[in-house]
Amino acid sequence: MDLPQLPPMPMRPEHEPGYSKEIWQPQWRCFCCHDTGIVVSHLAAMVIKGYNANRSKFPLCQNPNCHAEVGIPEEYNHCLDFRFNGEICAELDKRERQSWQDWTKGRQQRLSELNTKVSALAEGMSLRKRQRTPSEEIEAQRRHQEVLDEYTHESVAHRENFSVGAEIIN
Ligand SMILES: [Zn+2]
Repeated sequence: MDLPQLPPMPMRPEHEPGYSKEIWQPQWRCFCCHDTGIVVSHLAAMVIKGYNANRSKFPLCQNPNCHAEVGIPEEYNHCLDFRFNGEICAELDKRERQSWQDWTKGRQQRLSELNTKVSALAEGMSLRKRQRTPSEEIEAQRRHQEVLDEYTHESVAHRENFSVGAEIIN
């Protein structure tokens, strides 16, 4: 028999034809409830006016294809809000996905801007022909810190925003 002729299989996925660099984002199956069965609080607040995760009943996720809610024991029923339907949850899922995509893209852009700024700063330092005066040194450190803070704050603020949902069920 003639042996089959197979194409080589690349060890690394980025060497495969048609590979497009995927932007990282969370691997939840359901973005409405982050796979917890309870609608994430900032999403719940888009539907329930004045929603407060500490005082309001937890909206049960009804996203079609999301079965996370089956993990919630029946004795919690009195704490649950059953008013959301599949359509609402699918829309919330869509918005949350979009929000993560936007954030991830923005983050990549900010990271590359940060890299540019840091290299520019480093270049400036190595090109300097004389030592900084103490006040120049303080100013340089302040600018450097500003660049870092700008990045860290945005990043932290976003993470806090998205971790609220996880706190509800804990
Ligand atoms: Zn869900």
